[in-house]
Amino acid sequence: MGIEEKLPAGFVLTTLEQAAGYMRKSSIWPATFGLACCAIEMMAVGTPDYDIARFGMERFSATPRQADLMIVAGRVSQKMAPVVRQVYDQMPNPKWVISMGVCASSGGMFNNYAIVQGVDHIVPVDVYLPGCPPRPEMLLNAILELHQQVQHSKLGVNRVAAARAAEAAALRATPTHEMKGLLA
Ligand code: SF4
Repeated sequence: MGIEEKLPAGFVLTTLEQAAGYMRKSSIWPATFGLACCAIEMMAVGTPDYDIARFGMERFSATPRQADLMIVAGRVSQKMAPVVRQVYDQMPNPKWVISMGVCASSGGMFNNYAIVQGVDHIVPVDVYLPGCPPRPEMLLNAILELHQQVQHSKLGVNRVAAARAAEAAALRATPTHEMKGLLA
């Protein structure tokens, strides 16, 4: 983060947000990181059939220090959880996380003591991708969704205001135990 964090809200900051968002979304490098069967589908997006290179993302970084996207592909065991967090902590800011598959997002069919019941207990997740396993096309769709988020992300005072609005919305949300339908 640099001078853009100090700029007051207004035309200059809005223009800078758009330029920074465009550059950031066009230069995302994923970390080399796979936990279980979902990782095979993640690897498939690097093949010519799916061609993640069209987004300039074919370089899966072997070190977290040169990566800004973590794709959590597969179930996260309790033993692996601190490692996942350490890899995340070693990635430079700004950074993003895609939770790929039901196991990473909620524990999936592994409803037991050995598996973390959702990787969002460990790291903040930007996009949840359903499926077991999600097809490579679905991962590409999640990446496009993330690109939209990155393109429209806020900077400086606008970011503080957006964080406050999100927190207020979360506090107003209906508690899970009062929800109806599938969650009841
Ligand atoms: S969601 Fe399915 S494919 Fe992915 S890690 Fe879990 S069991 Fe494997």
